[in-house]
Amino acid sequence: MPRLDYDETCVFCKIIADKIPSKKIYNDDTIAAFHDIAPVAPVHVLVVPKVHIETLNDLSADDAALVGKLIVVAKDLAKQLGIAESGYRFGFNCGRDGGQTVFHIHGHLIGGVSMGWPPFPKG
Ligand code: 5GP
Ligand code: ZN
Repeated sequence: MPRLDYDETCVFCKIIADKIPSKKIYNDDTIAAFHDIAPVAPVHVLVVPKVHIETLNDLSADDAALVGKLIVVAKDLAKQLGIAESGYRFGFNCGRDGGQTVFHIHGHLIGGVSMGWPPFPKG
């Protein structure tokens, strides 16, 4: 599966490159974070690697440091956004059953509300 520095058909690549607007709250050489356009909770931030990788299925062992850093950035943002103590969820949707709609890996940092488990209807 290809990985690209920039996919011109990808909305998150465009956000990372500031070709479409977003409310960015984090930016470094490999990772960006911005508020979700359709938040499902008081805090809903997307934490994304800058490299275009379509899904979790496309990760390799070489990506371990990048993915680890993504989680560290997410927990720092949770503190910055005031949800570290109350708690939060940091999750990745993968593929059809996972509910993925944007095919550039991203973690959802969600908080400010008490969440249930499991995240799908019973029965
Ligand atoms: P997925 O369903 O792929 O896990 O999550 C994609 C997320 O990206 C959704 O929560 C959706 O609201 C968000 N999203 C889609 N397009 C845009 C956009 O143009 N800007 C921002 N900030 N978020 C977007
Ligand atoms: Zn992309």
